Amino acid sequence: MDIKELVNRGIDDLSPYEPGKPIEDLERELGINNAIKLASNENPMGPSPKIFDSIEAVLKETHRYPDGNATRLKSTIARKFNVKDEQVTIGNGSNDIIEFVARIFLSKEDSAIYSEHAFAVYPLVVKAVGAKGIEVPAKDFSHDLDQMLESIQDNTKLIFIANPNNPTGSFIEYDQLISFLEKVPENIIVLLDQAYFDYSSFETKDIEFDILNRFPNLIMSRSFSKAYGLAGFRVGFCVSSREIADYLNRVRQPFNANSLALYAAEKALEDQDFIDKCLQLNLEQKEILFEELISLGYDCLPSRGNFISFDCKQDSREAFNKLLMEGVIVRSLAVYKMPNYLRVSVGLPEENFAFLEKIRQTLS
Ligand SMILES: *Cc1c(COP(=O)(O)O)cnc(C)c1O
Repeated sequence: MDIKELVNRGIDDLSPYEPGKPIEDLERELGINNAIKLASNENPMGPSPKIFDSIEAVLKETHRYPDGNATRLKSTIARKFNVKDEQVTIGNGSNDIIEFVARIFLSKEDSAIYSEHAFAVYPLVVKAVGAKGIEVPAKDFSHDLDQMLESIQDNTKLIFIANPNNPTGSFIEYDQLISFLEKVPENIIVLLDQAYFDYSSFETKDIEFDILNRFPNLIMSRSFSKAYGLAGFRVGFCVSSREIADYLNRVRQPFNANSLALYAAEKALEDQDFIDKCLQLNLEQKEILFEELISLGYDCLPSRGNFISFDCKQDSREAFNKLLMEGVIVRSLAVYKMPNYLRVSVGLPEENFAFLEKIRQTLS
């Protein structure tokens, strides 16, 4: 039997998403206990301590299925962001949402547009449903919105925009994004991925959910994995028109988000003071990392997220390995067609300091 013959078209030439290396694995391999992971844009401060308040009560109820409608989390989100409960959809991470959108709108006859150097999950979900992915060359490591409009075909149903983008950190300013949305034909869905919204909106404006009233073809997704420090729980959400939310709920698995995640996300959302502290720390530490990397002679891409991508002036897989041997996990951007770029997440002051030390010793 030839399994390859049985596999859906589109799946066969997919490569699995390469996650950041877990700290535990590296510590075991090197026989150390102080490895530093700055590879997956996680919040180095962890989650709000408020999530621990009564999480034990939730743990004791884990023989029960979670709330399949995520009623409480949805209404916490709706209240906080001034949208209607029925516009909110909860995902098992926002990657779950990205997949729902591809499954709802794309079939084998359709195409979807995304930018070069954009988030790796977009081509994965597009190809997995057998649709055609149109990758538009980036301009200065940012989305080339004019070219993205130019690339629209008769069969284009979906456009992905990551703002800020991962891994480049690039950011499309408010007016530019609005003018792009005005030009996208109404019968094309735009998924605006705002996984780093908390960072990008901290000091300067970013697009808020109110524009959904103007653009009914827009879906805006956000994540609890980054600023909210809940990457391990897998929870994210999107806000859209009620009509789109209804379709999202049709493809969603009944219990896609678990009870601990639902509880933690709700508590985390309520603790804005903690988030603000994390965002402030990120801003200060990102500035330090940026200046130090520049002073070491590396070109850094400006970033509105909690990470910096920089040209390490050598094969980034080799540079990644050298740092790994020193107990520091970063990310090589070779898989993003940026063979000389490393991405480092902004960590705690002592982690950033150690990273800079190692980079001075091993790469310079
Ligand atoms: C991290 C990330 C996500 C989502 O991650 P989840 O953990 O699935 O919420 C989505 N988009 C981008 C651009 C990201 O970097």
